[in-house]
Amino acid sequence: MITYKDLIFEISRPGRIGCSLPESDVEAVDLSKKLPAHLIRDEAPELPEVSELQLVRHYTALSNKNHGVDNGFYPLGSCTMKYNPKINEDVARLDGFSRIHPYQPEATVQGALQLLHELQEDLAVITGMDAVTLQPSAGAQGEWTGLMMVKAYHEQKGEKRRKVLVPDSAHGTNPASATVAGFRTVTIPSNENGLVDVEELKKHVDDDTAALMLTNPNTLGLFEKDIVEIAKVIHEAGGLLYYDGANANAILGKTTPGKMGFDIVHLNLHKTFTTPHGGGGPGAGPVGVNKKLIPFLPVPRIEKKNDLFVLNVNEPLSIGRVKGYYGNFGILVRAYTYIRTMGPSGLRQVSESAVLHANYLRKKLEPYFLSPYEQVSKHEFVLSGSKQKKLGVRTLDMAKRLLDFGYHPPTIYFPLNVEECLMIEPTETETKETLDAFADVMIQIAQEVEENPDIVLNAPHTTVIGRLDEVKAARQPMVRYEKETVQT
Ligand SMILES: *Cc1c(COP(=O)(O)O)cnc(C)c1O
Repeated sequence: MITYKDLIFEISRPGRIGCSLPESDVEAVDLSKKLPAHLIRDEAPELPEVSELQLVRHYTALSNKNHGVDNGFYPLGSCTMKYNPKINEDVARLDGFSRIHPYQPEATVQGALQLLHELQEDLAVITGMDAVTLQPSAGAQGEWTGLMMVKAYHEQKGEKRRKVLVPDSAHGTNPASATVAGFRTVTIPSNENGLVDVEELKKHVDDDTAALMLTNPNTLGLFEKDIVEIAKVIHEAGGLLYYDGANANAILGKTTPGKMGFDIVHLNLHKTFTTPHGGGGPGAGPVGVNKKLIPFLPVPRIEKKNDLFVLNVNEPLSIGRVKGYYGNFGILVRAYTYIRTMGPSGLRQVSESAVLHANYLRKKLEPYFLSPYEQVSKHEFVLSGSKQKKLGVRTLDMAKRLLDFGYHPPTIYFPLNVEECLMIEPTETETKETLDAFADVMIQIAQEVEENPDIVLNAPHTTVIGRLDEVKAARQPMVRYEKETVQT
């Protein structure tokens, strides 16, 4: 095992060097003549001095400590950590896509614009919407973009609607985006079946209602069966229906938000459409709208005019730009590659397998963990650790114990309306053997809770760092290397 003693500062030796630079061919600059005195260091920074091989080993060791979908199962519900095919990377690296500049004249980047235009059209078909913008760089930014269009739509009609309805099972970004867009949010409680309580919803719908934001299947993995009635209630009151499609893994090729009656949809390409996800890397949250909202879409719009692809900035009702240039282009290339390699029948198969995997795993685990809802699951499912909590072991402890077996834990304590929630999304890209092995470990942990709870309460045991003081880590984070404070 690698300890801090092996880390880069400890193995540093004065004068050791990992690269050879050519002799400088410009004159040395006397910094004291160029910079104000207070900006000049008195001493050289204390950087580690190591050989190239030591440096390679250091970064390789760090990368091995990371858990990613390329080195293990990652059933993080709602976040969709499915495999990202490597062909996406090959295509994104093609010179014609990677060595272009956003300020190039349109005529010289017709291929790139064609790809964006075709991706817009594909996503419109997938969502059942009439037009799509690719600009937003995350799901949350897509939500905000959609809500700014909701606002512009009502204001154009001379109405100042201020209320956005959000079910209690919604992702936290929904109320956050609505608030940032200037709305007031009202929480709609779920019923005992985990679905929107339609009677309760009706009580809150009025002529101040700008929109309802809904995830369907919702974050409990359950399909909102009353969606047609819900859409009618909202539309009759003059409101709009917003679809949180961050995770669209259950509906590809099966149905569309358009068919369900939604007016606006955002998708997370970094969840459903296999672009890299996590580590704060670039994402993409395209937004689709139906006809009545097209005038409000962000500019520039990518359009086709007389066989040429052009950037149209001339839309008087547009909410404007929401992102520099045209979105995270490299990510859009990857999602396009995925959609085109799968084709319509491949995408339908994705949803069928995602749903099958979720229900298979749910059935294997139901004898051991409380399963709060009867309705069949879609691409993900929730369990409750409330049986285990009665024995003094929390869902958090079981999540930590999973680390000992090399699994990334599922999402925990979300959605908020399930006690001690575990939210599991196996994804379509895993094999039956992986699902079986994970189920075996979960069952073993449930047995440990009954027979040897300490092993769960003190987990993880095999990771480089054990159980952290999470409050202290959040309140007093130590993000800088300090030799004296590192335990060896
Ligand atoms: C992930 C997620 C979001 C937010 O997407 P980001 O890209 O993280 O901003 C919104 N809603 C749901 C249901 C999600 O799973």
